[in-house]
Amino acid sequence: MSAASTGEPMGKTVSAAYDAALEVIAAVEPRVAQATRQELADQRSSLKLIASENYASPAVLLTMGTWFSDKYAEGTVGHRFYAACQNVDTVEALAAEHARELFGAPYAYAQPHSGIDANLVAFWSILANRVETPALAEKGVRNVNELTEDDWETLRKRFGEQRLLGMSLDAGGHLTHGFRPNISGKMFHQQQYGTDPTTGLLDYDAVAAKAREFKPLVLVAGYSAYPRRVDFARMREIADEVGAVLMVDMAHFAGLVAGKVFTGDEDPVPHAHVVTTTTHKSLRGPRGGLVLAQEEFAADVDRGCPMVLGGPLSHVMAAKAVALAEARQPAFQTYAQAIADNAKALAEGFLTRDATLVTGGTDNHLVLLDVSSYGLTGRQAESALLEAGVVTNRNSVPRDPNGAWYTSGVRLGTPALTTRGFGPAEFDTVASMIVEVLSQTQPGTTKAGGPSKASYVLADGVADRVRARSAELLAANPLYPGLELG
Ligand SMILES: *Cc1c(COP(=O)(O)O)cnc(C)c1O
Repeated sequence: MSAASTGEPMGKTVSAAYDAALEVIAAVEPRVAQATRQELADQRSSLKLIASENYASPAVLLTMGTWFSDKYAEGTVGHRFYAACQNVDTVEALAAEHARELFGAPYAYAQPHSGIDANLVAFWSILANRVETPALAEKGVRNVNELTEDDWETLRKRFGEQRLLGMSLDAGGHLTHGFRPNISGKMFHQQQYGTDPTTGLLDYDAVAAKAREFKPLVLVAGYSAYPRRVDFARMREIADEVGAVLMVDMAHFAGLVAGKVFTGDEDPVPHAHVVTTTTHKSLRGPRGGLVLAQEEFAADVDRGCPMVLGGPLSHVMAAKAVALAEARQPAFQTYAQAIADNAKALAEGFLTRDATLVTGGTDNHLVLLDVSSYGLTGRQAESALLEAGVVTNRNSVPRDPNGAWYTSGVRLGTPALTTRGFGPAEFDTVASMIVEVLSQTQPGTTKAGGPSKASYVLADGVADRVRARSAELLAANPLYPGLELG
């Protein structure tokens, strides 16, 4: 763990800050103060392999707890609909500047409250920027704020006719990439591309064929559960060939882009028209979102609030500025490389113990373990692992026979434990612990005596043994080592 990220050199100051804060909170609602203490204790004592989670630095966390939360600041830097936003301007401009510099992006928008919100901003900007009507073409008007009511009438109809092509959920895509229960699957006519049935890898020729046939306005690349890198240069070629806008959602792997593990064709920023991300996953910042865009889309992205966003969370934008400043430090590149090296070690640890991995391995920050070889559903595996103190989440595998609820997979990510200081040897041990649990878990039965997809039976003693091993690993790699609450 890089000391700068955890506050270790300022352990006393950080401890004093949290002690004071908890005392102030306890004076009003002691149960909240107590739950906050307990959350730290629980996070410290659990082996967190949830691929979308991390541990932000005390500097990032402390930045969120201030009076910036009290400000309204609708609008953009220097153009607010509220008075007295000069300090919000400062922190929002800093967050955007760090984001542009870090990612080499022409334009950055720091207001989205979350990843899903960032995607809504991106969808809006693409619709506003690209949907043509005869009247618009004739007037040469591109600014939707300058349209007449008649223009809007036509535009509204045209908005409802647009198409989006994204990666399917069971291949690792995200529900905001056109999945039906999400608004992206309602507001767009949507189709999905999957992965190759034998290799489990993205098949770019198949994506291109689908794009030629479907002719989407938006081609979405990016994923939440695909354990491989993506060739974004190739995705851009496909988008260009069919006249689509390439939108990349790097919510999961932004830290690997920031840390220069993904460069060249694997770096989405130079290739995509619009890039969205969360700031709290591998990027290790506060819970929030970010949009990066080519200049052409900047003005439409800027309308995010109030078009689809509520008032900006100024305290979180301030924390984004701090986190992005951290990510510009050389130590972050070391961290990002360690995330990828550790994922490789975790995958190797599984493969040498005969486990089945979707795509046969990983070259990013996550591993998708197919637990059907243990005769288990993802649900049973997730529950058995949790009983043994290993926190994962169940996840569909491509063409999953158990559907999205029970699933046949477990998704494991390395960003959080890498922050704690785990290296390849520790991740090999983690693989051995997971294999030990799963190979000694049996599916349970339903009340009627049939096979259950949810209940399970873990052999006696396994949970205790694995918990003890995990406690050793966690003690050797403490979370927030300088932070001691009184
Ligand atoms: C996590 C994630 C999101 C959603 O982020 P929230 O902050 O939970 O809204 C969007 N897209 C992808 C690809 C993600 O992995």
